[in-house]
Amino acid sequence: MLKAELHVHSRYSDGLDSVEKLLKEAIERGLDVISITDHDTIDGSLDAIEFVEAEKLEIIVIPGIEVSTSSGHLLVYGILRDVESNLSMEDTCISVREMGGISALAHPFDVLRKGTTKVSDYRFADCIEVFNAKNYFNFLASFFAKRFGKHGIGGSDAHCAKHLGLVVNYLSSADKSAILNALFDGKRQSFIERVSFLLSRISQKL
Ligand SMILES: [Zn+2]
Ligand SMILES: [Zn+2]
Repeated sequence: MLKAELHVHSRYSDGLDSVEKLLKEAIERGLDVISITDHDTIDGSLDAIEFVEAEKLEIIVIPGIEVSTSSGHLLVYGILRDVESNLSMEDTCISVREMGGISALAHPFDVLRKGTTKVSDYRFADCIEVFNAKNYFNFLASFFAKRFGKHGIGGSDAHCAKHLGLVVNYLSSADKSAILNALFDGKRQSFIERVSFLLSRISQKL
């Protein structure tokens, strides 16, 4: 089984670290697969693919993006271009499917971080991020995933290298379709860890 981190932000959106730093740290932490899922841009993933090839790094990149839809965030895997943002969840999922990608509702019910609160959105996505290290509503995310018969995945939602691998997924292959059968394991970030991260982010901006 391959150990995969499927939810990471780099400096291409609101992450603190460069793609290069994230990749090197992921290898240090024993991850086999990574998806850089920046907000509304595929550029972090494209950069990661190029860097891994150029440096011949021992890690596989599944390209990803976290798209903002009109009802909340949607993780998308296995595409190489941007997905239009601010469309409805249904239209976004349809266009992702047409592009050959896999979609996953990101941190559902996390109202403060733009997770969808529409139960009907569960019908459209291929799978659901039922365990997000920062989501206090994972129990609801997973309750509805079961109800709609959708597979659950996990994500660290890492915004810096030191949070990589908080939640890992075990994949049978490095193909995007393996995500649909992934098994996850990990822990949620504690309140103190979250506050200290937010403070470090504020102090970096000062
Ligand atoms: Zn999000
Ligand atoms: Zn995220």
